[in-house]
Amino acid sequence: MPIFEYRCETCGHKFEAILFGEQTPECPKCHTEKLEKQLSTFAVSKGGHPAAPAAGCGQSNCCMMNGGCDLN
Ligand SMILES: [Zn+2]
Repeated sequence: MPIFEYRCETCGHKFEAILFGEQTPECPKCHTEKLEKQLSTFAVSKGGHPAAPAAGCGQSNCCMMNGGCDLN
């Protein structure tokens, strides 16, 4: 599920929004669409294996080649 973090350029309010398709988020406080998209710390902070491959990430020390990824 794609979760994006935004900061409102008008009032500075920070919030997260789950977006489907071409939906445009708006600030829940002032309802403007002038938003600054934040880098999602959620997506990059977990470390571990990149979200994808059943075949491993291609590196020789790939966790999936060594008995599995602990994300499983
Ligand atoms: Zn706002």
